[in-house]
Amino acid sequence: MSRAHNFSAGPAVLPLSVVEQLSAALPNFQDTGLGLMELSHRSPTFDAVHRSAEERLRRILGIPSDYRVLFLQGGASLQFHMTALNLLSEGESADFIVTGTWAKKGLDEVQRMRSGRAAWDGKDTHYDRLPTSVQTDPQAQYLHYTTNNTIYGTQFKTPPNVGELPLVADMSSDICSRPIDVAAHGLIYAGAQKNLGPSGVTAVILSPWALEKSPGGLTPMLDYTLQVEKRGLFNTPNTFGIYALERVLAWIEEVGGLAHMTQRNQAKAGALYAEIDRSDFWSGHAVRDARSEMNVTFRTPTPDLDTRFVQEADAAGLKGLKGHRSVGGLRASIYNACPPSSVDALVSFMQDFEATHG
Ligand code: PMP
Repeated sequence: MSRAHNFSAGPAVLPLSVVEQLSAALPNFQDTGLGLMELSHRSPTFDAVHRSAEERLRRILGIPSDYRVLFLQGGASLQFHMTALNLLSEGESADFIVTGTWAKKGLDEVQRMRSGRAAWDGKDTHYDRLPTSVQTDPQAQYLHYTTNNTIYGTQFKTPPNVGELPLVADMSSDICSRPIDVAAHGLIYAGAQKNLGPSGVTAVILSPWALEKSPGGLTPMLDYTLQVEKRGLFNTPNTFGIYALERVLAWIEEVGGLAHMTQRNQAKAGALYAEIDRSDFWSGHAVRDARSEMNVTFRTPTPDLDTRFVQEADAAGLKGLKGHRSVGGLRASIYNACPPSSVDALVSFMQDFEATHG
């Protein structure tokens, strides 16, 4: 059976070797006689998987030893709520860099419960750029930003420079795609379904500051203090998802860690942007210095041709290229696991498409 070129924004393509390991683990996991999804989350077998997932993430990202790691459920969307609930007491506020839909949803959640302010909002230019500087509110407890905007295709190259103010980052669509300075962050969260594994697992990395802010005594499922105390095992975690994530992290380590991922991602994105820039037939959505290496947003000269592109690409085995409905146009999501050969196939399809319709 052949696999299509998968450019979906998430859930997204996983390394084939990982998918094969998952498939083999389903009926009988590690010769236990029990299938991967049929194991107790309290068994020594699963405990080893869970610990290995955490250790690998710590090694790959260089997470400081006094930071804590959780694999929770509820997606990044639940973290919009949990960060607000745990990090802000009544009367406290947070600043947000609004680079698009996801950051705005995080801000909405803070405003629903506490108080929050857009320190910068890219709405006027249709979220095609990032701030050059940000004026934060002296009262703000933290600054929230989205490292990579999945929908508009913008990506911070470095964390925003806001002095001592703690940074809270949604890294759902670029975690483990390149090295990051974890110690510069108060809290990081990322839904797994782009770079880490399947949906249904969310990595949360908490600094001592975040744990100190979390007051405890909250609804248990939403309480960072309690979840850390229970190592994320307050209730039944997504055991399948955590194993899949552990295997994806093993794959990252095997192929050369984040140094290799950086090179691989830069090469893929470079090839695609070079094609977009080569001809006036294509136009990119994000301004050049804000371009994402994970989600490449672009369009043909007309919406009709965009639709045609998506249809013809799909028929040629290149899937998931339709832009998000709020931007239109086209989007190629080329996360870690997207093979360079898929990008080569896309570039060559684009050249043929332009030759026919240009
Ligand atoms: N943040 C970002 C940057 C995202 O791309 C997404 C999903 N595409 C979300 C948050 C929401 O994630 P989830 O569906 O896991 O709640």
